[in-house]
Amino acid sequence: MDCLFCKIIAGEIPSDKVYEDEQVLAFRDIAPKAPVHVLFIPKTHLAGARDVTADNAAVVAHIFTVIPQVAAQLGVTDYRIITNNGASAGQSVDHLHFHLLGGRTLGEMG
Ligand code: 5GP
Ligand code: ZN
Repeated sequence: MDCLFCKIIAGEIPSDKVYEDEQVLAFRDIAPKAPVHVLFIPKTHLAGARDVTADNAAVVAHIFTVIPQVAAQLGVTDYRIITNNGASAGQSVDHLHFHLLGGRTLGEMG
């Protein structure tokens, strides 16, 4: 499958990893929008939030246990978690990912 984030998981494209386990990979965004900008992705390919079902939601719950640990490790206590679903909502990579943004004062949601 021609998926950028699957290639990052496979190690075919390098990334600045901050956390990894059997289910999830976290790496720094290549174009950071904040001092801390990390992407959390399931190692199984899901196109986006639209693909989350009762059968695969456990990995999403797991990611939400990992995010606070990584945030603490990177020294942020206040942060924003974003997932864009669909092109007109700002999704540019069709592999489910959660942005962790922190390290600066974040404005209102736009
Ligand atoms: P989206 O726009 O889909 O919500 O988020 C995709 C994110 O992936 C963007 O913030 C973009 O900067 C990031 N990104 C795109 N290509 C790469 C890459 O090759 N490596 C890394 N680390 N991030 C990438
Ligand atoms: Zn993928």
